[in-house]
Formats: sequence, structure tokens, C-alpha cells
Amino acid sequence: MNVHVVQMTTNAADPVRHDWTRAEAQAIHDLPFNDLLFRAASVQRRHFDPNKVQMARLLSIKTGGCAEDCGYCSQSAHHASGLKASKLMELERVLTEARKAKAQGATRYCMGAAWRSPKARDMDTVVAMVEGVKALGMETCMTLGMLSDGDVVKLKDAGLDYYNHNIDTSERYYSEIIKTRSFADRLDTLARVREAGIKVCSGGIVGLGETIEDRIDMLVTLANLDEHPESVPINMLIPIPGTPLENRKKVDPIEFVRVIALARVMMPTSFVRLSAGRTEMSEETQALCFFAGANSIFCGDTLLTADNPGEDKDKVLFGKLGIEPMALEGAAGNETAMDAETEHAGCGCAGTTSCQTATSGR
Ligand code: SF4
Repeated sequence: MNVHVVQMTTNAADPVRHDWTRAEAQAIHDLPFNDLLFRAASVQRRHFDPNKVQMARLLSIKTGGCAEDCGYCSQSAHHASGLKASKLMELERVLTEARKAKAQGATRYCMGAAWRSPKARDMDTVVAMVEGVKALGMETCMTLGMLSDGDVVKLKDAGLDYYNHNIDTSERYYSEIIKTRSFADRLDTLARVREAGIKVCSGGIVGLGETIEDRIDMLVTLANLDEHPESVPINMLIPIPGTPLENRKKVDPIEFVRVIALARVMMPTSFVRLSAGRTEMSEETQALCFFAGANSIFCGDTLLTADNPGEDKDKVLFGKLGIEPMALEGAAGNETAMDAETEHAGCGCAGTTSCQTATSGR
């Protein structure tokens, strides 16, 4: 029997903390690389099957023409990226795409609209999209910009599982990248979403020109929220011609892996998603990210507008690494995971499928 170790809420070795200091986080971030990897991988194994990766699919339901000025984004109306703006996608087309994604193994369907915030006239369609995708048996996630109290109630009532709202970078560096809204605006929407009982997906981008301290502060902010985001997407900047960040220097892969590892250690029960930028990463870098605790990716050829490796490349990589897509159902409960952990305390593998000391066919 394979034991599928899933997200657990508590573990004595990794208490879920909300009082991280920059100094503590920096000390972990700066560990010798092998020590950092070992620590992050150990945390991951106590909470998840290290050989299972969640597959999410992202669809742009309304592209371009966005009123915000995010310096990295091709969809901002402030930048000359050449991207053509489109209207909100029709419901039936969204559902057709979601069915295809499900057939290709995606368990979560993320829908993104390039808005500062949704307009009242669009909310009925958005709600119908959530209901329709839920009816297919997939988890739903939306990213629509800032939300009012009324918007969150409608989305919650529709059954929305997750709301994505990235904090992007540190509070200090935020205004260097975005001027049309503040870091506090971002946190306000996150608080509203959480209060409504919708799960939170929030992370950031590495490679905006930020310092190492900014990266650490970004993770400290996320980890010190009242509840950790259930999903933490970590993106590597894809510099897009026509945006203010088009000439940003490529991120050093080892530095990027350190951010993934730190996110894993500080938010032990969250899904850490290796998000945008995978097309620029070698297989080896991606493998290191998975070892450092990343356990979620976007599958498919495109993200909102940027390229993504696509199913074929991911299949090859997963095959080489012995990684399997995580199923939505069939996960063992906490109790089973804890039992496996106790049994495998000596090897520290939590009873995962790859354990060489397994004696009961796990
Ligand atoms: S990142 Fe989102 S909010 Fe910012 S410009 Fe792009 S679409 Fe608009």
C-alpha cells in the first residue's frame, strides 16, 4: 500500500509559527547550501510525500488592459508590451478549457483576470465560472485583483476554494515595482479573503531587482500572517520586453533555490509552488527546487500570458525524477501520516513511497 502523506496541521518538529524575525529567517537562508537543502527536505518529508507534486492549471479569463502598473507585467495598460487586451472570456469556453485541463491531470483550476478589481457587472459571470469548474470536480482558484467585502461573499457562496493575491516582494521594495496600489492594499484583500473562509494563495517574485533581505522579508510577511497561505507561489521573473523590468538580470539558480527552501521551512504545511520562470530553468534547477520543498507547479504550455514548459517536458522530467502528479482524492488523513512518521522515525522519511527502510510495502 502506498502511503500518500498529505498536509498536516501540526508536527512537533515543525511548529507552525507566526512570529518569525528577519534575523531568524536570514540565518536559515544563509545556511551552507547542503545544510539548507537537508533541513528543507526534512520538513517537506514530515508533511508531504516528497515524490508527489500538485498540478494546477492557469487560464487567463481576461487578458491585458489592466489599470495597475506592476513593473513586471505584460498586461498592464501602462506598459508597451504589445499585448492585445481582450474582454472577459465566455463561460462555456472557460468550462471547455477546464475539462481539457482535468483530462490532462490538473486538479486545481486557476482563473486570472487582469483587473485592478472586478466590476459589479462581471461578478455574475465570474461566479458562474467558479460554480461550473467546481461541478467538474476540480479545486477552483481565482485572481481578480482587489476585492470588496461584497465580492468575497459572492465568491465564497459560489464555492471558491482559493484566492490568489501575491504580495510580490517586501514592503520596503514594493513601491519600486508598483505605484498604483500599496502593500497595505494587498494585505487588506488577503485579510478579507481569509475572513470569508476562502483559502489563500499568496507568494511573490524573485528577480525584480530586490535584495536578498527583500526576499527574506517577503517570506517573513507571509509566514507571519495570522494563518499561512495554503499555497505559496514563488515565481522567477520572466523579463518581458516593453515592461520597466525588461532588462533585469537573470536570477542565480542557487539563490532561487534558497528562497524555495526558506519558504518550505517557514511555512511547513503550505504548498510551495514553483511558478513562473520554469521555462528558463534547467531540469537540474527544477529538481533542486523539488528537493528543497516545492511541491506544486502550473502545468500546460502557457501561464496567464507567459510560456510554461508544457505537459510533455514535465512528463519527461517527472519520469527522470520519479515524481508523480498529486491526486485530489485518495490522500491519507493526518492519522495515517502520523503513523507512518512514527514507524519511520529512524529514517525520517515519513513512510513515503521511496523509503529504502520500508518493511510493509509502503
Ligand atoms: S500583475 Fe495583475 S494587477 Fe498587476 S498589471 Fe498585471 S494583471 Fe494587472
